[in-house]
Amino acid sequence: MYGLKPAPFKTGSKLTRCKEPEMYMPTHRRANGNTESVDNYLKAILYLGGREESRVTIKALAERLSVAPASVTNMLQKLAASPAPLVAYERHHGVVLSQAGKRRALEVVRHHRLIETFLYEVLDYPIEEVHEEAERLEHFISERFEERIAAKLGHPKIDPHGHSIPTIEGEMAARESMLLADVVREGTFVIDSVSDRDAQNLRLIEACGITPGARVRVRKSSARGCDGYSVRVGRSARVFDLSREVARDVRIIRLAK
Ligand SMILES: [Zn+2]
Repeated sequence: MYGLKPAPFKTGSKLTRCKEPEMYMPTHRRANGNTESVDNYLKAILYLGGREESRVTIKALAERLSVAPASVTNMLQKLAASPAPLVAYERHHGVVLSQAGKRRALEVVRHHRLIETFLYEVLDYPIEEVHEEAERLEHFISERFEERIAAKLGHPKIDPHGHSIPTIEGEMAARESMLLADVVREGTFVIDSVSDRDAQNLRLIEACGITPGARVRVRKSSARGCDGYSVRVGRSARVFDLSREVARDVRIIRLAK
């Protein structure tokens, strides 16, 4: 049986040999007691900046976090002014993460994705529920808890949505993938990942058998007046029609030939 209770600490077990991991307690946590919100800003900047780590606008951040632009400006000024700044922010030029900010953001993403994997694989949560739960828990787990989850799961590289789990050193693998909604030419693809943002879409996608690693045949829907995609999963004879909106929540990789 899997349980959340830590195993008893036996002498001679591998646990006694390693140093107790330090609790991650950056200064901003103590300073404003507002970890959750700081973490969410850092995650949003990481996400919106993308692989190029480009500057993120206040408007884009405000939209992503569903807060007023004035609150965003306020928070960024605070984060940029701290002694060890988590972001570099210039008025009218948007914001980028500092090295420390990027490190922290990847740490939170690692927590989030490990928790999702744990909930899905060990606690049998439905796929569409793991994200919400991880959003709450990601800010509070200790480094020790994180390491135990990773070990229990065999140090997974991807979460149940197909997203890369950053390593403990803060490296995150990037893969070349495209949106299913960007398919122009009919072809065979493998599912890379599915978005965790919309639980309803996710339930629908899962019900079609569209899960990371699945092979799919995709073409633009031929039904009249339908702006969607026909998807056949594996060798199944069934064809599913996905709307453009749902197709935007699925990332795929084209298979050669
Ligand atoms: Zn998630």
